[in-house]
Amino acid sequence: MALIVQKFGGTSVGNPERILNVARRVIETQSQGNQVVVVVSAMSGVTDNLIKLARDVSPNPSEREMDVLLATGEQTTIALTAMAIAGLGKKAVSLTGAQAGIVTSETHTKAKIATISPERVLEALEEGNIVIIAGFQGETAEGSITTLGRGGSDLTAIAISAAIKADLCQIFTDVDGVYTCDPRIVKNASKIQEISYDEMLEMASSGSKVMQSRSVEFAKKFGVTFEVRSSFNYNPGTIVKEETESMEAVVVRGVSIEKNQAKVTISHVPDKPGTAARIFTTLATSGVIIDMIVQNVSVEGSTDISFTLSKDELPKAKAALEPVVKEVGASALHSQDGIAKLSIVGIGMRSHSGVAAKLFESLSAGSINIQMISTSEIKTAVIIEEGRIAEAANLVHEAFHLGQASA
Ligand code: ADP
Ligand code: ASP
Ligand code: MG
Repeated sequence: MALIVQKFGGTSVGNPERILNVARRVIETQSQGNQVVVVVSAMSGVTDNLIKLARDVSPNPSEREMDVLLATGEQTTIALTAMAIAGLGKKAVSLTGAQAGIVTSETHTKAKIATISPERVLEALEEGNIVIIAGFQGETAEGSITTLGRGGSDLTAIAISAAIKADLCQIFTDVDGVYTCDPRIVKNASKIQEISYDEMLEMASSGSKVMQSRSVEFAKKFGVTFEVRSSFNYNPGTIVKEETESMEAVVVRGVSIEKNQAKVTISHVPDKPGTAARIFTTLATSGVIIDMIVQNVSVEGSTDISFTLSKDELPKAKAALEPVVKEVGASALHSQDGIAKLSIVGIGMRSHSGVAAKLFESLSAGSINIQMISTSEIKTAVIIEEGRIAEAANLVHEAFHLGQASA
């Protein structure tokens, strides 16, 4: 008998028929002699609607109340899933994140899991139940409801798997697995059979939101191997696991894209110690998350500093920086949106040369201008015009022969 965690995302529980499909699927897993813990998301669109409702009643809702509100989405689904399973004649019990013993930090809307006390989950399993846990939520040590950041049901599934020492963790979604690029953007993308935690993490944090990036970090830290697969068919999915030697043979594993980016440039910044620290400490104190940073070579004692960030963060960043620009003696602050990031990821990039050159050549062949570049050991990323991002992803995907015919 194996202990299996199965997570179903928003589309997989998007309507009553799909919830019944999930119920049948988990019953099937149990009837093969397994104990099953199910983690579910809110029905698709529900979390977005709740956010919209909050904005309709208040321009700046408190994060504590946002969490109370958003947690209701998953609470609806656990009850419906438990009812569907019971309706099909099997024992099921639903648990909120708090009831499942998930204790988090106090950072509302993006809380971190601090501890999990899974006794209640294990007892319910021993009593013969299929246990349905609400994804995306927990509670603080003081008992306030928290949520784990968008896409956080993935994290719940991985963390519960680690806490109950599950034999298998399966993430069911609306695609067959992790693809070489988002199949909605590159039709010819191919399914990846196995991918290392580091590659999955880089892809997830550079826009491949098939997995929440924090959940992949957690899986790596606790050694949770998991499978991403479809809830609509029985095709084998993608295994995400510790790196193996053979994985390095593939130079580029995948292409990620991230839209809705913005760029800020501060020009003629005096080239002296402490200026960059002043600018970026101000941004950090204001809670602005920045991505790429580029500083020009100093000419006549001053430089230009540019950085990118999510478009949503732009007003906050500008408001924080305007006084600092004057204070440090820079000449101006310019901002621009309508840009997007394209990244290529692969652990094989550590030991192969010419990868960045090939990326730039493929964009140049399409006359796509590169505005910024950044590299890490297993990733090269470029900023380009947002309107051309799909075209760019297809060109790059093709240049690295990642499509189905060439896989
Ligand atoms: P769920 O609601 O099940 O959590 P998500 O919408 O969060 O599902 O993630 C699945 C979606 O991720 C897919 O429909 C796909 O469009 C998108 N996606 C982005 N990048 C990739 C990728 N590299 N491979 C597979 N899917 C991807
Ligand atoms: N319902 C949450 C969201 O939409 C969590 C999740 O689906 O994983 O972000
Ligand atoms: Mg998701």
